[in-house]
Amino acid sequence: MELELNKLNLPGVPTERPLVIAGPCSAETEEQVLNTARQLADKGIRIFRAGIWKPRTKPGGFEGVGVEGLPWLKTVKQETGMLVATEVATAKHVYECLKAGIDILWIGARTTANPFAMQEIADALRGVDIPILVKNPVNPDLELWIGALERINQAGLKRLAAIHRGFSSYDKKIYRNLPQWHIPIELRRRIPTLPIICDPSHIGGKRELIAPLCQQAMDLGFDGLIVESHCNPDCAWSDSFQQVTPDVLSYILNLLVIRSETQTTENLSELRKQIDECDDELIQILAKRMRVAREIGTYKKEHDMTILQTGRYSEILEKRGSQGSLCGIDAECIKKVFEAIHEESVRQQMEIINK
Ligand code: PEP
Ligand code: MN
Repeated sequence: MELELNKLNLPGVPTERPLVIAGPCSAETEEQVLNTARQLADKGIRIFRAGIWKPRTKPGGFEGVGVEGLPWLKTVKQETGMLVATEVATAKHVYECLKAGIDILWIGARTTANPFAMQEIADALRGVDIPILVKNPVNPDLELWIGALERINQAGLKRLAAIHRGFSSYDKKIYRNLPQWHIPIELRRRIPTLPIICDPSHIGGKRELIAPLCQQAMDLGFDGLIVESHCNPDCAWSDSFQQVTPDVLSYILNLLVIRSETQTTENLSELRKQIDECDDELIQILAKRMRVAREIGTYKKEHDMTILQTGRYSEILEKRGSQGSLCGIDAECIKKVFEAIHEESVRQQMEIINK
C-alpha cells in the first residue's frame, strides 16, 4: 500500500533541517513544564514535547500526571507560542488531547508494536487533521512500523512522520536501544516522502550520546530531532540519565554540521562510479564463491555429510573478522557479512542435497 502524505505544515516552524522538538520526558509539575518551556523558547525551539501519560515497564513507577497536565501545555502554547506535542496510547488520550488543543501527537514505541491499540487510535483520529509522529515499535520490525503508519493514514491523516528511537535488545551495551540504522534507512527507501525524526535520547539512554547521535542522524539525511530536555535533569521523575538542560541542548544543536543532501559535484560522481565498479566485482566474486559452495554441496551429498559443519563455520567467522580488522573494517561488521553469505551458501547446498 502507498501512503498518501501531505507536508507536516507546522505554523511558525522553520522548514529547513533539522526540525527540532524538545522538552522533558514527562510533564511533572506546572512549574517544571513552564520553566523548561520558557528556557527552550529562549533558545529558539519551536516545538515543545512532554509526556502526559507514561508507559512504564513496571507498575509503580511515575505513570504521568494525566489530564491534569494538559492545561499546562496549553499555557506553554499561549505564553511561548511554541507548538505542543504529547504521547497518546488510547482513544481516550486522543479525545483528551484534541479537547485540550494539543498541536501534535506521537505514538510511543510500545503502542506502535500493538495493532489493536494502533487501530483504536486511528479510529479515534478519523476525520481529524493533526500531525502524527509514529515511533518505531520496540522490536526491529519495519513492517509493523509501516503498518502502524498505514492505519493512521487510512483514517485520513496525511501529515505523518516517523520517529526512530532505536530497538530493544536483551544485552545492553553502549546504547539503551540499538539504533539499527539500516531499518530507518530502509523506511526512507520505501516511503521517500515520509519525514524521519531521530530520538537520540531514547537510543542513547545517556547524555554523552546525544550529540554524536544527532550528528549521525543529520549525516544520514534525517529530517528532524526529538530530544528530551529538562530544567533540572538530575531530578527528573523519568529518564533522568538521558535528559539535558535547554542550555546543553542549544550547545549541541549549534555544533551540528548540516551537510547538503544534493551535492552532486563531478568528484562525487567519479567516486560513485568507482563504488559501482567495486560492487560489480563483489557480486562476481560472490557468485564464484557460491559456485564453489555448490560443488562442496555435491561432495557432501555423495559422502552423506551434513551441510552444516559447525567447526568450519566458526573458523570462517573468526578468521574473516580478524582479517577485516587488519584492513580497518569492524570485525563485527565483517562477521555479519559472512553470516549472510554463509546463509545463502547453506540455502544453495540444501537445494543440491534435496534434489
Ligand atoms: C518518550 O518519548 O518519553 C517515550 C516513552 O518514548 P518511547 O515510546 O520511544 O519509549
Ligand atoms: Mn522518555
